[in-house]
Amino acid sequence: MDRLLPRARFLHLPLARFILFRWFAASAVLIAPVVLRFGLGLQINLVATSIIAGGLAAINLTYVVLLRRMEATGWSSGVRWMEPLQALVDLIILTVLLFITGGVRNPLLMFYVFHVIVTGILFKRIICFSIAVCAILFVVAECAAEVLLPGASPDIFGLGSIVAPGHFSYLLCILAAFSMMLLVTALLTCDIAERLRREEKRLAAATEHLTKLEEAKSRLLYFVAHEMKSPLVAITSCLQAARSLLEKQENVPDAVTDMLRRARARSDQMAALVAELLELSRQRSMPNAAPRHCAALISLVQYILDDHREAAEKKHIALGVGECDTEIDVLADCESLQRALGNLVGNAIEYTPESGKVEVSVLSDGDMAKIVVADSGIGIPEEDLDAVFQEFYRSANARKVSRIGTGLGLAIVKTIVENHGGRIAVESKIGEGSTFTVWLPKVKAAQQ
Ligand code: ADP
Repeated sequence: MDRLLPRARFLHLPLARFILFRWFAASAVLIAPVVLRFGLGLQINLVATSIIAGGLAAINLTYVVLLRRMEATGWSSGVRWMEPLQALVDLIILTVLLFITGGVRNPLLMFYVFHVIVTGILFKRIICFSIAVCAILFVVAECAAEVLLPGASPDIFGLGSIVAPGHFSYLLCILAAFSMMLLVTALLTCDIAERLRREEKRLAAATEHLTKLEEAKSRLLYFVAHEMKSPLVAITSCLQAARSLLEKQENVPDAVTDMLRRARARSDQMAALVAELLELSRQRSMPNAAPRHCAALISLVQYILDDHREAAEKKHIALGVGECDTEIDVLADCESLQRALGNLVGNAIEYTPESGKVEVSVLSDGDMAKIVVADSGIGIPEEDLDAVFQEFYRSANARKVSRIGTGLGLAIVKTIVENHGGRIAVESKIGEGSTFTVWLPKVKAAQQ
């Protein structure tokens, strides 16, 4: 089946979509007459319709070959002349099919309208109107042929000749109404399609603008964080030096020592915020900066758990591995991935009360690896679930548990996971716990 379709690069073109429709049309032209003949007893010439179906399939195959050649040679301008040519050839085939199956008496006449609509949606206005005018001329020619050569078009429905007495003026009215309908259909379809195309362009421009704004925001964030880093280091070391000096002095008022301690704690907090801001802007602006290596997920998880064991023990939290598939590898910037998963485990320990439980599982989910970090902690209010991945967002219940926190951790985790072609989701129940699930593409055997 794949061979009968144009390759991916051309698939978005109207041409390729026409090719797809045409396979269905060829099958319908082959099957429908058989059903109508044996189901409804219509005297359809099955040999003639089968030849047309075969011709349609052969023409379609030619288009596929031509498109592939064009793709191979990079001759995309050939596509331009193939568009109207295809639409016209289809119209001629429809006219021949109509002629051998009852002419204008055949309800298949409606398909001209369908053809004009599809042409209006996929192609330019000029092509659509040309097709509509050709369709009118073909139907007029068909009527003329039947008038001049009575019986040339078989009367498969047994309705009698279209040139019977009194039929002529009726035929003229039908032709006038049909022509009007085709032209109005072309006009309306082109108008709607053009409006949609304009809207599509507007949305593409807006998306590009948003992407540029996002990039500018990341650059600004990086610049501000970077500029804050050196003064902060200087402040922290001055505070440290002042404390060391004061420790050697006697009779230093407690208030002074306390103020220095608080200033130091605040500058540490600020330094943590700056470090996270730098990390977030680095991950966003240079998603593929670090090299990727094939890593066994279970080893990464074990390393992270060992790293957090002490913090968990301090709160008597049972930290362990749940269900585990030991065979899963991922292609990762290991440092970043460790940071992301470590952040989830760190949060789970932080937001779980004493004697709680934190469990990490590594599972397989089709082509993806699934890492689940589940805790029995304070949970996240339902209305905050979507917001927790936004920068600086902290739930009210989390702020009560831990006043210190930047609200940047999960934004960094999400960025890292998405940089690895994965996604993250969270489920939580207040007072019962939270479960963060990360999906990452598995390394396929061929990539290893
Ligand atoms: P921080 O932990 O510094 O506040 P994060 O970005 O890591 O920032 O987390 C954002 C918010 O998501 C937290 O403030 C908290 O409200 C919520 N959160 C994250 N992980 C958990 C968890 N395991 N249990 C409950 N709440 C959590």
